[in-house]
Amino acid sequence: MGEFEPVIGLEVHVQMSTKTKCFCSCRVEFGAEPNSNVCPVCLGMPGSLPVLNRKALEYAIKASLALNCKVHNLSVFARKNYFYPDLPKGYQISQYDKPLATDGYIDIKVNGKVERIRIHRLHMEEDAGKTIHEGGYSYVDLNRAGTPLMEIVSEPDIRSAVGARLYLEKLRNIMRYIGVSDADMEKGQLRCDVNISLRPKGEETFGTKVEIKNINSFRFVQKAIEYEIERQTKILKKGGEIVQETRLFDEKTGKTFTMRTKEEAHDYRYFPDPDLIPVRITSDFIQQIKDSLPELPDDKEKRYVKELGLTEYDAEVLVADRDRAEFFELSVKHYPKNPKSIANWIINELLGKLNEAGIEISESPVKPEHIAQIVELIDSGAISTKIAKEVFEETFETGKEPKQVVEEKGLKQVSDEGEIRKIVEKILSEHPAEVEKYKSGNTKLIGFFVGQVMKATKGKANPKVVNKILSELLKD
Ligand code: ADP
Ligand code: MG
Ligand code: ZN
Repeated sequence: MGEFEPVIGLEVHVQMSTKTKCFCSCRVEFGAEPNSNVCPVCLGMPGSLPVLNRKALEYAIKASLALNCKVHNLSVFARKNYFYPDLPKGYQISQYDKPLATDGYIDIKVNGKVERIRIHRLHMEEDAGKTIHEGGYSYVDLNRAGTPLMEIVSEPDIRSAVGARLYLEKLRNIMRYIGVSDADMEKGQLRCDVNISLRPKGEETFGTKVEIKNINSFRFVQKAIEYEIERQTKILKKGGEIVQETRLFDEKTGKTFTMRTKEEAHDYRYFPDPDLIPVRITSDFIQQIKDSLPELPDDKEKRYVKELGLTEYDAEVLVADRDRAEFFELSVKHYPKNPKSIANWIINELLGKLNEAGIEISESPVKPEHIAQIVELIDSGAISTKIAKEVFEETFETGKEPKQVVEEKGLKQVSDEGEIRKIVEKILSEHPAEVEKYKSGNTKLIGFFVGQVMKATKGKANPKVVNKILSELLKD
């Protein structure tokens, strides 16, 4: 039996960051007093009527366009009927056969290779409430009921656990760029169901899939898929069959287990919601929203490479986070002459330092203008790269401007030839043996002399000038 290939499709729910709910004017608020943000509409009282939140519609259109989807001029809200204590109406308002948008894609880069993951559809729906089980009792909190969600369904185009993770991270990133959601998995603003099947490599038809529900971190999505690939491979290698079912992921054991099999699957009996008129969106309105989209990460990445001369890797790191890209662009605005060096400082120095300190880049004590200043100070020859690191550290600790740090600590690079010549002469006279060796052919010793001069000047001597004078004085 040959190799198997995983086939993966994701169904993702993204909570939109509107101020109010999808069909009523109750506030959307994280961590509010239970059942404090409710009204007859989201409590499902008879006779109450839902009205679509225009902002939610706008956000969903924005997201659809950012995901390269076709937004339809007509879409329809439908009732998805099921019973659960956190669903007082007995149905969830969703979209069924006429979703808001279809046929989009997200490009991800897996091992340096671009893979296009097609998006089947994006539709709007409302969230349910929360059931909390505690001390032998169950409680229902309906604050979340009616919160606007987007469901984004991918085609089964993902071929690895890493790919699934990259797809989700890219999706989150895009949502943040366009400002429709923080898409924070830990806060439940992005929730993901994974569909996965295996097939023999080279085979066209799909195998039987399993759905893994409610995984709550990027890492766990990857782990759950890795586990599931292993489990299904074992079954298939033994000649067994995969049971179509819904499974759950146990974070403690890293394993998935059966939640329900196909026989228990729901029949939701969808039908158009008679309380809500069909959503009609003009092409003008769609175009207007399209025009208002900010530059998205893929375009940014291309521009950084093409116009700012960054490497693909650097550009990728910078655009992977909206705040990071913004920080970079602000720095470049302050000092446009050397974007490449600015990128290096952010990626090689700042990010590590922030990570160590557990600080977000938006809260960084080193500001964009500081990075710009450091690079400018190096470029103008005022400080060496080595000293610049010291200045960077000091700015990080104190928030003081690099220029001020250089002033106060007397770190300015010494480029004065006369001054350096004196020091070089002194060093050479102190090391006659090394001078002798150098002159008899051991030219590698130049490094030793440079080191001595740097030591004597606490790293402040301009290395170019030092080298020039050294080779002059060691000539004969
Ligand atoms: P269902 O009717 O069971 O909900 P859908 O066709 O609606 O299935 O697809 C749900 C998700 O499952 C989509 O993201 C889709 O890409 C994915 N999917 C469908 N078939 C397969 C398969 N054989 N293997 C893996 N994923 C699949
Ligand atoms: Mg489905
Ligand atoms: Zn309400």
